[in-house]
Amino acid sequence: MVSNRRHSTPRVACLYRIDLAKSVRPMTSRKWGALALAMLARRTCPRCQLDVGYCIPRRYGICGMCLTTEEQRAV
Ligand SMILES: [Zn+2]
Repeated sequence: MVSNRRHSTPRVACLYRIDLAKSVRPMTSRKWGALALAMLARRTCPRCQLDVGYCIPRRYGICGMCLTTEEQRAV
């Protein structure tokens, strides 16, 4: 039925547009807060619990200070 098909088309287009608007919408402050927390967690050394101001190298998992202490202890 042609009339039925024509009737259903705008509804689908409208739904699609709402979905598109949702995905296009810029990040909410809550998301930025979560990102900031994630960044803070990445900058915080798990050993000395200090925000070292940079991302802790995933290879070591601790900050440069702790790494130096660790190396000195190992020698
Ligand atoms: Zn540390």
